[in-house]
Amino acid sequence: MIQRVLRQSPARAESSSGRAESAVPVRLENVSHEYGTGGGRFGSGPDRTVTALRDVTISCARGEIVGLEGPSGSGKSTILHAIAGLLVPTDGSVEVLGTNLATRSSRERTRLRRRHVGIVFQRFHLLPSLSARANVALPLVQLGVARSKRRSRATALLEQVGLADRVTHLPRELSGGERQRVAIARSLAADPDVIVADEPTGELDTATGTDVLELLTDVGHDRAVVIASHDDDTLAAADRVVTLRDGVVVSDGG
Ligand code: ADP
Ligand code: MG
Repeated sequence: MIQRVLRQSPARAESSSGRAESAVPVRLENVSHEYGTGGGRFGSGPDRTVTALRDVTISCARGEIVGLEGPSGSGKSTILHAIAGLLVPTDGSVEVLGTNLATRSSRERTRLRRRHVGIVFQRFHLLPSLSARANVALPLVQLGVARSKRRSRATALLEQVGLADRVTHLPRELSGGERQRVAIARSLAADPDVIVADEPTGELDTATGTDVLELLTDVGHDRAVVIASHDDDTLAAADRVVTLRDGVVVSDGG
């Protein structure tokens, strides 16, 4: 029901590559990552590095929901950031729709992310001064979609996530669950092939979290969805659970 409207994307119409449509949406191969190499992030002093990922190989197919599980610090967010092209791992390849992000410039990664990857954060990350509709429309501004189209698509998305009567509300006028619905609507604005969600129910009570999860499952049915969580209900909703410990995949498919 939801998917029909959500898949009619102005952005999609502009992207023409048949290759991207058929490629595996997400594939990480032998990915290792160290934070702080070069010493810049930690300033002066001894060269401290943190190994966040070690030789991680995972993939997510279209229509699949992969849960990333593991204790705090096990590398879940680092994987999601790599998929979103927000960081380039120290080693290995991160393919999104057949493009290895590690070989692309920061500008190209940004372009790929805007078109193909929707991101949902634990703390929503809505702009407080913008209405729900303007928040949802924001990714379309970056894609150069005309204002009237942005508005109509954002309104349709908000209707689809059950917020038809909250279109002009500001984030502070919404409940936590409603804010996360807005954030999910925003993540869908460009009709992405890939959605990454980092502890999307972490700030919500159980019942609200379940609703948000149902929504993510629903909108994910013909996309690739990777959800990091240590919430059992979230992981139960995944088609496959990848377990991480200290940056290492200790099981895949449990
Ligand atoms: P998770 O999401 O599973 O809690 P993260 O991917 O955030 O794990 O972190 C993995 C490891 O990398 C942890 O040891 C964490 O402290 C470290 N780390 C994460 N982000 C940074 C950063 N920006 N700079 C330095 N170390 C980081
Ligand atoms: Mg995290």
